[in-house]
Amino acid sequence: MSAAVDSGCDTRPILRERGQREVFCGLTGIVWMHRKIQDAFFLVVGSRTCAHLLQSAAGVMIFAEPRFATAILDERDLAGLADAQEELDRNVTRLLERRPDIKLLFLVGSCPSEVIKLDLARAAQRLDRRFGGVRVLNYSGSGIETTFTQGEDACLAALVPELPASDAAQLLVVGALADVVEDQFIRIFAAMGIERVAFLPSRRAGSLPAVGAGTRFLLAQPFLAETGRLLEARGAQHLAAVFPLGAEGTTLWLRAAAEGFGVSSARFREATAIGEARAKKALAAPRARLDGRSIFFFPDSQLEIPMARFLTRECGMEAIEVGTPYLHRAHLAQELPLLADSVLISEGQDVERQLDRCHAARPDLVVCGLGLANPLEAQGITTKWSIELVFTPVQGYDQAADLAGLFARPFARRDVLRV
Ligand code: SF4
Repeated sequence: MSAAVDSGCDTRPILRERGQREVFCGLTGIVWMHRKIQDAFFLVVGSRTCAHLLQSAAGVMIFAEPRFATAILDERDLAGLADAQEELDRNVTRLLERRPDIKLLFLVGSCPSEVIKLDLARAAQRLDRRFGGVRVLNYSGSGIETTFTQGEDACLAALVPELPASDAAQLLVVGALADVVEDQFIRIFAAMGIERVAFLPSRRAGSLPAVGAGTRFLLAQPFLAETGRLLEARGAQHLAAVFPLGAEGTTLWLRAAAEGFGVSSARFREATAIGEARAKKALAAPRARLDGRSIFFFPDSQLEIPMARFLTRECGMEAIEVGTPYLHRAHLAQELPLLADSVLISEGQDVERQLDRCHAARPDLVVCGLGLANPLEAQGITTKWSIELVFTPVQGYDQAADLAGLFARPFARRDVLRV
């Protein structure tokens, strides 16, 4: 089913589709979130499919002390639900006794009807009361309710009520970033004179940032609709910005913070000019491979629109269609005007129709999920897996060339194969 609808303030029509989808579920977010919050543990309450998905998404990582696992609930009837609660309690007790390093435990819900009936919110409250010193929270990563990156949104949204209250003036950066990227941003904010900077998620459960009327927050990721809404409900103010991808994108993102905190334009230029110049210089090599090539995005990570903006404006690519699973008009309000009018933006998916449009357009590069990549490659179409864009540090000046390199690499691979 397809419909062209108005996009609100931006006058461009958006193709909205509701049909068969080819996207991951929100459990995938655990793969990067467990690396970020170093004393958290993610216990998926799910099926063998969930365990399998997590294992394949995480690759063949073998940990001495893993920070996620799946408690598998086999099929059972309603009478078996009380047993299921007890089984879950036993699993959690065993885990927490064995692992005193865990300070924050997420019970992550999934699709099977047994899990849906289980009421994980109540289970989390019960277990939270039972174990002092460990916070137990819950959210859903179910494929019925979430796609791919929405798992991070659900996880962070579960943390917002836990944040201590403070009305002190501070900048809050929201969305998981690699530690190295956070450190770079802290240095730039300090050079601008913004000293009180906090991050959500924090690296440790015990150092969650405070939030209140003095908090101004920048989103580091475009898929945090619910988290943003809950932070605003706690009095924080959203600083509207493009996302920190590429040299231009990073400068515009930082500028939103500078304007929010009254930093003079001279001081802002001084804090950002060197990083921006270095990023632009480093982009020259990958740009040489990307310039003039066309690209088509299937909806997957919600990063598609900022990525397309970066690739068209800073790498010389031509975007044909940019698909996104969900378009948050307010959070993307600064991004949309930076995309050329000729670009078709689609929201949601009807995969067969979209494949038809893709085949008709014959793009040089297709960005899509793993499920579509193999068949498209077999048809001679060069693809890029969108999941890599979430697993790799790509934000900020020093990562701009790496980000472009992720898109240039498939061309390099093809060129080698042709030789
Ligand atoms: Fe588990 Fe549902 Fe995700 Fe499948 S879609 S892995 S059943 S949560």
